[in-house]
Parts: sequence; structure tokens; C-alpha cells
Amino acid sequence: MALKIHYRCLCCGKKLSDPLSMEVGLGPICRMTIKNKKDVEPELFGGSNFVFYHLEGVLCIVDLDTGGKSVTNDMENILARLQNENGIDLYAQPIMYRDSLKIWDGVQVHPVGKRTFYTSFFSLNERDENAAIAKVKAMQEVAA
Ligand SMILES: [Zn+2]
Repeated sequence: MALKIHYRCLCCGKKLSDPLSMEVGLGPICRMTIKNKKDVEPELFGGSNFVFYHLEGVLCIVDLDTGGKSVTNDMENILARLQNENGIDLYAQPIMYRDSLKIWDGVQVHPVGKRTFYTSFFSLNERDENAAIAKVKAMQEVAA
């Protein structure tokens, strides 16, 4: 199967340079803009069945892409379940997730009240799990 390569971002038309963006057809900034808007193109990012695990101190969530509601759009519910049903402290470790394009991005949890929060996404733009873990950890150290 020949991969279609995009030389310009489908969203803003800017030139793309990294291989992952060229494959997906979106630069990292536009990819995050679309994710953070939610509901804009949910099918682009896949279905809401997911698995989660801890790896090297990072909470990893993987979209199994089985159809249904998008993990991107469902992230707040997913994290609320992990918090309430699995007892995971959402503020104790960096969080990243892999969407149906199989790209890892970071999840930022913003506290609102004691048990409530909202989430936003930031770009890791990595297919490689270890590279994504290294990036999300480095970003948290800068933020801390
Ligand atoms: Zn763009």
C-alpha cells in the first residue's frame, strides 16, 4: 500500500516538514487545535474503547479504534472513570494517549474543584511509545 504524502497542512495550508505530519496531512498545531475543539472531526481520531497502563511513571491510554465515541471527545469521562473506579490520581503522573492515527499526544488535566476537572491536549507528535514517554516527562519537568 502506497502511503499518500501531504506536503501542505490540510487545515491551514502551511508547508509540512516532519514525516508524521506529512503522512497525516496535518501539522502538530492544527492537529491539537482540532482535538481541543472536540466534536469537529471526531471520526478522525477514532472510537472510545480504550486500554490504559502505567509505563515508566506515565499513565498511557490507547484508543482501540473499535468505532463508537471518540476517545478524544470522551477524555474527561475516561479520566473520571480512572479516577473514581480505579483510584488513579490524575495529578500524580504525566498522561499521554494514542489516538486512532496511532499518534501519541499529551493530556493536561486542569482542576476545577476537588473532584472535577477539564482536559486539554498538547502535541507529542510521536508514533514511538518510548520517544513519547521521554517527551511527556521532559515537558512535565519544565512545567513543574
Ligand atoms: Zn495547519
